[in-house]
Amino acid sequence: MDGPSGTGKSTVSKRLATSLDARYLDTGAMYRIATLGVLRKGVDLADAVAVAGAVAALAWSVGTDPAAEQIELDGEDVSDEIRGAAVTRAVSAVSAVAQVREVLVARQRAIAADTPHIVVEGRDIGTVVLPDADVKVYLTASARARAERRNAQNIAEGRGDDFDAVLADVERRDHLDSTRTVSPLRAADEADVVDTSDMGIDDVVATLVRLVCDRTGEVQ
Ligand code: C5P
Repeated sequence: MDGPSGTGKSTVSKRLATSLDARYLDTGAMYRIATLGVLRKGVDLADAVAVAGAVAALAWSVGTDPAAEQIELDGEDVSDEIRGAAVTRAVSAVSAVAQVREVLVARQRAIAADTPHIVVEGRDIGTVVLPDADVKVYLTASARARAERRNAQNIAEGRGDDFDAVLADVERRDHLDSTRTVSPLRAADEADVVDTSDMGIDDVVATLVRLVCDRTGEVQ
């Protein structure tokens, strides 16, 4: 499951995994843990070699239960901290480092190889990490629709109401993620593209369950 942020990808991926009785892997969380580790070590983000070295030395883990987030760095639960502003600001820079991606992609492939049914969510899953996946989905939505959702989420969670700033951040991250040299964000050639701009979460999940059944020949 690939696509930019704000398409409902995480919620949809977890619900899809639960509906299919499958496991779930959030690769964005892996890049966020790596970023938190780099920030905690005080490494200069512009120094790709130092960033990659720091990431390779980190002790972290991510669980695959769609109902329970297990995200640890050095044995500490960091599930809240990795979603904070400092990590969000720095994550595109860390995930643009080729050696960082090598380390994380190897872990993602190992987890997928060990897990018969898994929904893997990210930016380069269908194109790079798991090109032989049975089903590839690219979730998308207009920048405006994605910013509206994120802003509503911020308001609901008490983080303020600033649509223009949220839209600017969505556009900034889209640009960084789709123009970077290593694994730029794009739909895999064979991916089913689902535009969620005018769809509710329930509709998206139902559409994807049908799609998985069609593509795999399994009956839900
Ligand atoms: O999905 P989420 O917003 O948590 O991802 C955070 C960041 O991690 C993205 O903006 C992107 O820079 C990076 N990422 C990536 N490749 C993935 C997943 C996430 O580069 N497979």
